[in-house]
Amino acid sequence: MKPLRALIVEDSDDDAALLLRELQQGGYEPVHARVQTAESMKQELFDSAWDIVFSDFSMPYFNAFDALALLRSTGLDLPFIIVSGTIGEDRAVMAMKSGAHDYILKGNLKRLVPAVDRELREAQIREERRRAEAVVHHLAYVDPVTQLPNRARFLEQVEEAVQAGLRDEHLVALLLMDLDRFKEVNDTLGHDYGDDLLQQVGVRLRQALLPSDTVARLGGDEFGILLPHLASHEAIDPVIRALHDSLDVPFMMDNIPIAVEASMGVALMPEHADSANVLMQRADIALYRAKGLASDYTIYSPRFSPQSPEWLGLMAELRDGLEQNQLRLYFQPKLDIRTGRITGCEALVRWQHPRHGLILPSRFILVAEQTGLIGPLTEWVVIEALKSCQELCHSQMQVKMSVNLSARSLHDTRLLQMIAQAIEAAGARPEQLMLEVTESAIVLDPQRAKENLLALSQMGVALSIDDFGTGYTSLASIKQLPVNEIKIDQSFVTNMLSDPKDAMIVRTVIDLGHNFGMTVVAEGVETRDVLNALGALDCDGVQGYFIGRPQPGPLLGQWLAESPWIVGSAGQAGY
Ligand code: C2E
Ligand code: MG
Ligand code: MG
Repeated sequence: MKPLRALIVEDSDDDAALLLRELQQGGYEPVHARVQTAESMKQELFDSAWDIVFSDFSMPYFNAFDALALLRSTGLDLPFIIVSGTIGEDRAVMAMKSGAHDYILKGNLKRLVPAVDRELREAQIREERRRAEAVVHHLAYVDPVTQLPNRARFLEQVEEAVQAGLRDEHLVALLLMDLDRFKEVNDTLGHDYGDDLLQQVGVRLRQALLPSDTVARLGGDEFGILLPHLASHEAIDPVIRALHDSLDVPFMMDNIPIAVEASMGVALMPEHADSANVLMQRADIALYRAKGLASDYTIYSPRFSPQSPEWLGLMAELRDGLEQNQLRLYFQPKLDIRTGRITGCEALVRWQHPRHGLILPSRFILVAEQTGLIGPLTEWVVIEALKSCQELCHSQMQVKMSVNLSARSLHDTRLLQMIAQAIEAAGARPEQLMLEVTESAIVLDPQRAKENLLALSQMGVALSIDDFGTGYTSLASIKQLPVNEIKIDQSFVTNMLSDPKDAMIVRTVIDLGHNFGMTVVAEGVETRDVLNALGALDCDGVQGYFIGRPQPGPLLGQWLAESPWIVGSAGQAGY
């Protein structure tokens, strides 16, 4: 017998008894209370825990709609089943619309037990989903090694501090800190020691600050420190000193003293920036400078950027590079695990520089973003990628082409037109294109992003959330977007077999993605074992060196034809 705590909203003792008997015959062992007014129902909901609520449709002092509203107001998510005499189809439909889970006729209790079974199961699924979301939320905001806020949370806090600073006209300071020889510790003593050291550093930094200040771990050996309310410019010096002093005493790891040094970059608002984004960039530039000069810290100065000669040089060169056809596309295949079929390719841009050789996108996309060159660059990538897609199509190889969209492009009002024109210029169809955007790009301006994404989706272009898990603020916001695919960031995938935390993130993202009706793709698959593990977790697609490295465009067709995987022929659309 299965125990069941049933709250019965019912004015008739006899009807309640019939209901209980039916439950018992169906294998349940009900513990129940019967109520027939709002007050007593409220009392019972507060006093005891319930698995399910049964309610008559109308009673002398109460009715099912009010009972349902009352249940809702408590925030409890319990199955609510109406058990009543004939109420007519209209009212039954209305009851279901207002959120009742089912309605059963008193004269036909046969349906009761199956409905209870089903609703209890559904309620449990909802509960598990809520728990998973809470886990993901925690993972999304807290760095698991140091238990400090992570980058995503830190960016939000910087944003809040900047808004408050602008409003109340006070100073905000942002410090970025990078440990100087952390890599040596990691490489010589191992990851566990590395993690231990990061954790101890976090504790010391925290102790050197006021409770109202924030310390976050931004990734690797980088920490972010936010002073949301700095009394004066001069007040920054003692803080910098305190942070440095806190690292002076060597860290003990297994009785071995380890000395840690750090570089810091500092930027102030309003002096150096008037937005969170720019403040972060400026602190980063200052940090870069401090490291270059091997100094303890550097406070940002406009001399460092973007007008600096090196920066201007790179920017001018990229412009020439674009005009002189120095950009190249590489393509990396995407595999459907279940069918063993290559369903898509991701276009990855490179810059064939006349002197420096092949430059990876991490070195020039940011420059392109900051100079407005990203627009023409993205347009070029979309056109070239779709042209390659068409060539494959002519050789009977049907794949969908994924192109990365930078944050800047996502918020560009001309995006839609540009994409439409690019598709036309390549002689392709919108269905052949998938655009990848990162969550961090979406949160910069969710409203604008949503408008652009909706319009693209209506046009027939598929959308993917790239690098999922690294920097998002809310799953709810993604749920509202017309997203077809999420790509789990490779940082979780590559080590999922050795790191249980990574494995758990991967599993949770797959489940949540499926709950939202999206295809889930794992990036960074480097071994067969990881591929098999992902298959077992019901992941849909994979990308990574094990399937294929990014290939230069001209070799793509041949590579696909010779690969051990099946390549969809024309007529079989990829996802
Ligand atoms: P992404 O979109 O997440 O692309 C995946 C990156 O992971 C690629 O690096 C790819 O070469 C690498 N990768 C793929 N499989 C594996 C693997 O098994 N192991 C490892 N360790 N790495 C793997 P890549 O080509 O250097 O691109 C880096 C990033 O630059 C991309 O990340 C994307 O965000 C950006 N990017 C590339 N092309 C474009 C573009 O045309 N426009 C824009 N806006 N961004 C681009
Ligand atoms: Mg991508
Ligand atoms: Mg990615």
